[in-house]
Amino acid sequence: MPLTKLRILTHRMSGAERRFRLRTMVAISSLPLFGVVAAFGLAPDTNTLDITPEIITEALALPALTNSSGTGTFERESVVQSGDTLNHTLSRLKIDDLEIQRLLGTDAVRELASSIRAGKRIQATTTQEGQLVSIKFERNDAPALTIRKQGDSFITEESSDLLETRVVMRSGRILSSLYGATDSAGIPDKIADRMAETFSTSLDFREDLRRGDTFSVIYTVNYRNGEPVSAGQLLAAEYVNAGKPYRAVLYRDPLGREAYYTPEGESLKKGFLRSPLEFSRVTSSFSNSRKHPVYGFHRAHTGVDFGAPTGTRVKATGDAVVKFAGRKGGYGNLVILRHSNGYETYYAHLSKFAAGLRSGSPVSQGQVIAYVGSTGASTGPHLHYEVRIAGRPQNPMAIKLPGAPPLATAQRARFMEQTSNWSDKLALLRGTNLAALD
Ligand SMILES: [Zn+2]
Repeated sequence: MPLTKLRILTHRMSGAERRFRLRTMVAISSLPLFGVVAAFGLAPDTNTLDITPEIITEALALPALTNSSGTGTFERESVVQSGDTLNHTLSRLKIDDLEIQRLLGTDAVRELASSIRAGKRIQATTTQEGQLVSIKFERNDAPALTIRKQGDSFITEESSDLLETRVVMRSGRILSSLYGATDSAGIPDKIADRMAETFSTSLDFREDLRRGDTFSVIYTVNYRNGEPVSAGQLLAAEYVNAGKPYRAVLYRDPLGREAYYTPEGESLKKGFLRSPLEFSRVTSSFSNSRKHPVYGFHRAHTGVDFGAPTGTRVKATGDAVVKFAGRKGGYGNLVILRHSNGYETYYAHLSKFAAGLRSGSPVSQGQVIAYVGSTGASTGPHLHYEVRIAGRPQNPMAIKLPGAPPLATAQRARFMEQTSNWSDKLALLRGTNLAALD
């Protein structure tokens, strides 16, 4: 009805009407008002733990009419219910109708109206007469939006992103494959990968996996404005293989380096990776005598050749310091790494070096140091890899590779302080979940 609407729009409230409106507000506010507050059953920091990220809904008495410290303004909150329009939600805030209409007419609010989701909160500050001072909208996957009244117009302000890390615990049982089980438990691939990698020193997930094996993981999830955005870190894990448990906890040393250990403090890191390439095949093995493909005569092959396309990333097989990075005869572009205990590794025929790599630079295990090529005495792109112990070439595929050094005694107290909580939670999770799964 356009006529009625026009009348409302041009209507000015008298003093008596204003008082009446205020009395109505006070009367309404004295009724027991209930609102629904949604909260994630998860804590916003890594020290607290919750089992499942479910939404807990509870009825709360809302401070319906709060006089903010003598400024003559009132604050109310309204939560979007399922099936609500923005208009409905706003009407519960006791804002002047005309103001609501004007607010709904702004670009920012029009945009919000189409995407508003149940559970989001809207907080309004009004004058005693219901005139809007400011209103704050929680949004989906975006920082809260505040709209302030300034004279006859509205000003929008975006809050900064609310970033949180939450801890999640999950368990599963293997029915067919590791990823089948982690998928059905809702565990991100990144976390599943990390678990497989962490236990790979003691378990081969392609060979050793058994139907009925169980696992538990504790990991972080990064949230932005209340929405999960990415998987964070694996904090602790347990894998029970054919009845034998394997456990891992993440430890950060005083220098900020992170690594996985057993709850007893034994390193789970391999001292050396078996191969410096992720995907490759051995095209020529270590041998004491073979016919050289370029020189033609028989001589020892002092390393292993891995066939891989030019540009494939070459990784340091262990923590080390760069001893040499440059061109050297038949090796072509060569990197030599010096490790502890007299170990050295050679990476030859490289197309190029990683940016910033120079002699004396420290490198960590798995760090990309160069790229596969065919420089020097080479007939096609491949990586020639050598391991030397006290200067003598050894067969990298056959030697027993040393483990990572154990945790220093001086760090035991720090280690326990950081990890015992996760170890306890793993034990707790095992007790609860296995009972539930059986
Ligand atoms: Zn070779």
